[in-house]
Amino acid sequence: MITLRFSPILALTLLLPVSVNAETELTDVQQEFLSANVLGIFYHELGHALIDVQNVPIFGQEEDAADVLSAFLIDALFDEETAQSIAFDAAYGYLTSEDTGEDIPFWDVHGPDEQRFYNHVCIFYGANPDAREEFAKDLDLPQERAEYCPSEYDQAANAWGGVLDGMINQDGEPMKFVPAKGEYSDILNPLLSNEVDSLNADFGFAAQITVTIDDCGEPNAFYDPQTRGITFCREFAPYLLETLEAFSQ
Ligand SMILES: [Zn+2]
Repeated sequence: MITLRFSPILALTLLLPVSVNAETELTDVQQEFLSANVLGIFYHELGHALIDVQNVPIFGQEEDAADVLSAFLIDALFDEETAQSIAFDAAYGYLTSEDTGEDIPFWDVHGPDEQRFYNHVCIFYGANPDAREEFAKDLDLPQERAEYCPSEYDQAANAWGGVLDGMINQDGEPMKFVPAKGEYSDILNPLLSNEVDSLNADFGFAAQITVTIDDCGEPNAFYDPQTRGITFCREFAPYLLETLEAFSQ
């Protein structure tokens, strides 16, 4: 089994005011939304990386498989309360391009936003339906879909659970995080570096995956099989904060 852990990020939120720069501080709500969505996006990119380095066979859309891993890991890695909080915020991340009226490249290559939103909600709900009835209700998961969610989760667990089980406590290459400088680094660095450390504590990877934060000129994130690198674009941070604001109005 994967080690269940409390979120170091969310725990930190309660103790420290986090500053973007000298003038800007994030509220707890902003910090939580940002953390949840950075994690959700990171797990999606990790899905692409694992499909590549672990030679995971994919029957269907790779993008869907990566989304499934994201929901699966949020359920598997965190305690119930933290997992629900992350899954809830990350669900809203799937609706961003539609509801903020902004077109962003990361989502364009993926399925329709609403479909991704419900797939995410369904798999997470299906993992523990007894404890997540409120969660499903708050996110308007239709009853007729909800009935199938436990079996959708079982499929995800069979597919990704098997891949991850094969990596647990295995010798392999640790994932590597390269810290960034500049705007939002003080938020993104600890978030991603803690995550990489936690995953390294549980898993051995067949090849080294490198995680970097970069300026891309757009809110985006991607995996490059040539370099085996996950790039998280710095622009995602302000974009996610704008998204939160759009949903809060
Ligand atoms: Zn993708």
